[in-house]
Amino acid sequence: MKENEIIKVIDEMKTDLINMAKKIFEYSEIAFQEKKSSKLLADFLEKEGFNVKRGIANLDTAFLAEFGVGKPKVALLAEYDALPGIGHACGHNMIGVMSAGAAVTLKKAGIDAGTIAVIGSPAEEKGAGKKILVEAGVFNDVDVAMMIHPANMNTGHDIAYALRAFKIEYFGKASHAASSPDKGINALDAMISLFSMIGLMRQQLPEKVRIHGIITNGGQASNIIPEYTAAEITVRALDRKTLNSTVERFKKIAESAANANLCKYKITELDSMDEVFVNEPLARTLEKNYELLGLKVSERTYEQGVGSTDMGIVTQTVPGIHAYVDITDGVDIPVHTKEFAQAANSEKGYEAMIKATKVLALTCYDVITSQELLEEIKAHFERRKGVGPS
Ligand SMILES: [Zn+2]
Ligand SMILES: [Zn+2]
Repeated sequence: MKENEIIKVIDEMKTDLINMAKKIFEYSEIAFQEKKSSKLLADFLEKEGFNVKRGIANLDTAFLAEFGVGKPKVALLAEYDALPGIGHACGHNMIGVMSAGAAVTLKKAGIDAGTIAVIGSPAEEKGAGKKILVEAGVFNDVDVAMMIHPANMNTGHDIAYALRAFKIEYFGKASHAASSPDKGINALDAMISLFSMIGLMRQQLPEKVRIHGIITNGGQASNIIPEYTAAEITVRALDRKTLNSTVERFKKIAESAANANLCKYKITELDSMDEVFVNEPLARTLEKNYELLGLKVSERTYEQGVGSTDMGIVTQTVPGIHAYVDITDGVDIPVHTKEFAQAANSEKGYEAMIKATKVLALTCYDVITSQELLEEIKAHFERRKGVGPS
């Protein structure tokens, strides 16, 4: 049984895989600066006989590692960026290890059907690295793409917002705040108007739309009428259409805030992410493998909390999934917290990572060895694309 062989290979590599995840946790490199983390994974894959290309898509910390020839080509995505300040509070120290570990396992177990690719994907937290990879054509010959993200549940399904993020700047005129305030034009008033109007708009927004932001520059000194202010605002919705219509309203508000306060303004789009298209047959296959290993599969619901991921664009480009593994031992710890960072570097967390590596390898094995499953996956993708965002 190849399945038993796959599980055996991973058990033999267990210590090495955990050590790699611990190192990446220590490195804690943020978006586009993951030099040591990406090198660690690329070196590991190269040593195991993969053909490795570094710096793909003009990104220093991206890589493509491949083994095998021909079709189907299954891509496992490797993330490894940390968050500023709180390190690996999203558990990305495990993602690249799971994908590289699963890929090496298939090679070691002697699976010689199709091509297994590990795509080193920088900057998930900020910068949408996978979008750059998609636009550079890295997924052009990929048949199926998948990854498993640490979380507080096991599932092959995900719900993720589409998002657009903006920088907004107001330009006024400086003046002494006490002796000649009337000579100034207050760029902070425009900014405060913007945030107040966003607050008022919330009541009229459709369900499940999010709009949130921070002021990155609130003025220069309290005794000067602020001549310049800046903020970053993110708008999210579960589909592109709702997202775009909300963005139009947000832009009108931003303009009115400038007009009402006699300021000039500028909006720059910083980031854009797509919602995740869940490939049902692939998600079901992965969940079947969770159950095979005796792990409980949870239903993914909106109420559990929803974020965004640059895996969204990948799942809209090729059939794919953004799956989850519970590294919290059933405790409800949300990502991007110090507690989640602890779970991402705990023995229990690493045990879960090893099990998820097995699940990923088994799912990959199912896809490359079953023509019927592959066709089902592709047919689902075509249907979903035809219907558009739900
Ligand atoms: Zn995150
Ligand atoms: Zn994450």
